[in-house]
Amino acid sequence: MRLVVDLNRCQGYAQCVFLAPDVFSLNGEEALRYTPYVDDARRDQVAAAVAACPVQAILMDDVVDDARDDVVDDMMDDPLPAAFDVHH
Ligand code: SF4
Repeated sequence: MRLVVDLNRCQGYAQCVFLAPDVFSLNGEEALRYTPYVDDARRDQVAAAVAACPVQAILMDDVVDDARDDVVDDMMDDPLPAAFDVHH
């Protein structure tokens, strides 16, 4: 399954690291590292991490497709390139 963490939203609380240490790790104080493709066997662990994250920064593939646009918007500080702007 696929996993996305909105690192702009993540506050480094490390709840996810505690619940799914094979998937998430903290590099230093606040730099979260994670595995974007996770074996389905770890789905329960990741689901627990998703539920435990205080700022709802973790998305699993069930919701990634729906939420992807929002996440991309959140993660991108710059406006979309003009080529992607279908309104013009
Ligand atoms: S639990 Fe959420 S806020 Fe905390 S480190 Fe993980 S993704 Fe970031």
